[in-house]
Amino acid sequence: MSTINSKFDKVLNASEQFGKVNHEPDSSKEVQINTPEKTMPFSDQIGNYQRNKGIPLQSYENSKIYIVGSGIAGMSAAYYFIRDGRVPGKNIIFLDQLNIEGGSLDGAGNAKDGYIIRGGREMDMTYENLWDMFQDIPALELPAPYSVLDEYRLINDNDPNYSKARLIHNQGQIKDFSKFGLEKKDQLAIVKLLLKKKEELDDLTIEDYFSESFLNSNFWFFWRSMFAFENWHSLLELKLYMHRFLHAIDGMKDFSCLVFPKYNQYDTYVTPLKNFLVEKGVQIQFNTLVKDLDIHINTEGKTVEGIITEQNGEEVRIPVGKEDYVIVTTGSMTESTFYGDNNTVPEVTIDNSNAGQSAGWKLWKNLAAKSEVFGKPEKFCSHIEKSSWESATLTCRPSAFTEKLKELCVNDPYSGRTATGGIITITDSNWVMSFTCNRQPHFPTQPDDILVVWVYALLMDKEGNYIKKTMPQCTGNEILAELCYHLGMTDQLDNVIENTIVRTSFMPYITSMFMPRAQGDRPRVVPEGCTNLGLVGQFVETNNDVVFTMESSVRTARIAVYNLLNLNKQVPDINPLQYDIRHLLKATQALNDYKPFLGEGILRKILKGTYFEHILVNRPEEKEEHESFLTRFQDWVKGVKD
Ligand SMILES: Cc1cc2nc3c(=O)[nH]c(=O)nc-3n(C[C@H](O)[C@H](O)[C@H](O)COP(=O)(O)OP(=O)(O)OC[C@H]3O[C@@H](n4cnc5c(N)ncnc54)[C@H](O)[C@@H]3O)c2cc1C
Repeated sequence: MSTINSKFDKVLNASEQFGKVNHEPDSSKEVQINTPEKTMPFSDQIGNYQRNKGIPLQSYENSKIYIVGSGIAGMSAAYYFIRDGRVPGKNIIFLDQLNIEGGSLDGAGNAKDGYIIRGGREMDMTYENLWDMFQDIPALELPAPYSVLDEYRLINDNDPNYSKARLIHNQGQIKDFSKFGLEKKDQLAIVKLLLKKKEELDDLTIEDYFSESFLNSNFWFFWRSMFAFENWHSLLELKLYMHRFLHAIDGMKDFSCLVFPKYNQYDTYVTPLKNFLVEKGVQIQFNTLVKDLDIHINTEGKTVEGIITEQNGEEVRIPVGKEDYVIVTTGSMTESTFYGDNNTVPEVTIDNSNAGQSAGWKLWKNLAAKSEVFGKPEKFCSHIEKSSWESATLTCRPSAFTEKLKELCVNDPYSGRTATGGIITITDSNWVMSFTCNRQPHFPTQPDDILVVWVYALLMDKEGNYIKKTMPQCTGNEILAELCYHLGMTDQLDNVIENTIVRTSFMPYITSMFMPRAQGDRPRVVPEGCTNLGLVGQFVETNNDVVFTMESSVRTARIAVYNLLNLNKQVPDINPLQYDIRHLLKATQALNDYKPFLGEGILRKILKGTYFEHILVNRPEEKEEHESFLTRFQDWVKGVKD
């Protein structure tokens, strides 16, 4: 308590709370009631009251912090050690097998050789931890005192995101995307899934649960292409997503629910964060592969005493002292990426027989071999056919393709403003192909006449409609041909190929986080008994957050730091909008395509003329279908019985 002014001693010494904060409160288990025993903020309470500093209980001047992985999870762990743990930046050392920081957040290349981004960037305003951090990180382009968050708001508040061509089909025709088209029984299945306890969903898949009509609906096209869910993925994860993004469901049709960065993910997030950390003295040690941790396990707990690394082909053991901490990013969605270009196919040398052998997976497997508290990595990394897909980055000089693109954009793609406003999905593509042109330039040094476009597909085992090969069997030019076919412009293919550089990335583990899982398959952030080890990233258990987001990696890092240092501060659970009656009603209305839902008429009558009148979204009267109450009631009862 030496860091706290002695005038607080009387209160703190008498406190039953001090030093016993629940760092990761669970809103799905909490009854939100105020009592003399329960005076801390509610589990998912967010806002300025949560901006207190996490006053450490001791000084960490002599502690070293080793962080394995310089992706956003590792980098945010460093940030929280510095901001909330008051750990000197110079005490923090990253160890990464690569020679660049950022992990999955990449963005490289140039107009001559072609740019490359393995991923696009859909972002949500409720990424509470991510924005918590980026409100403090100096902006990339705005002068001091502005932050990355300030820059983000300036762009997104003044250049709204939405799509005018969310779905296309029939070789370039915009398809009506105004409806989810869910049958009543499928809407009920969603409601029943939301009601289910998480524990009931171990190892179930989406296709185990949902009907064919759901899987063929517009809703599922929107959802799976937006979030990269496959039918064989985890039903539990889908449920968590539905809670997490309930507030955004109505805006998923035209992407008006999303915000996007100004540039690619590397320049937008990694560069400013890296600059901040390096300025604080943090060291980044590249080309350092971490093979294993030397963990002393006894009845007192599990304590890391050494880090076994490989550097320049030599094994080097880094001793971990009694006052030190270790953070490890377990698993990576982009490990073992295979690359191709216009004329070459990614040479994929991985299949289920040799899956899960790369550094990130191996390290996790080595930990799992020591104790079951470290989970079951093989559940996530053993089925390449179920966890892989490919993306392609197009560097486009003006061509017939860029002309066609203009028709699908909400603003001129050369104007610097929102272009396609998120992915455009081709619903009659065998590959379920999507493409997007985000705000340009997508790279700070990109020439004015260049557009950078990102393409990806969900189904890797189907032949194309035009090119009779699977996507991973295609060269970049063949992918262009397939895309041009779906845009109705094969007659202009030569012109497109001549003016487009293609760089492809086949990612064997890109959706490995979505593989069906059961309780205990993912370790907790600080696994039971660990005294100085935190696990972060996409493959650790949180109470209610989802995976495949930057936010969840930041969340795990923050939990790890608060927990290991036992800070006087909580990480609030996910944003509580799922409990907001307005969003629940709006989601119900949206899922029913704004036709009246059961009981809506009565509710409207009750609310009419009251303070709460506005909580039901108004429908244009002419769209109202006068379905009888009895019919809707019968549908409901039938659905519940099914
Ligand atoms: C194609 C794509 C699209 C995406 N779209 C979105 C989106 O729209 N919105 C969104 O929020 N998120 C999106 N994401 C997800 C987001 O990018 C990731 O969740 C996040 O970047 C993961 O960060 P991480 O630090 O947890 O892991 P990673 O970025 O994977 O970092 C892991 C790091 O650890 C290192 N490492 C691992 N093991 C070892 C070892 N044993 N020794 C040494 N180093 C090791 C790796 O080299 C790497 O640098 C997308 C990701 C991809 C790939």
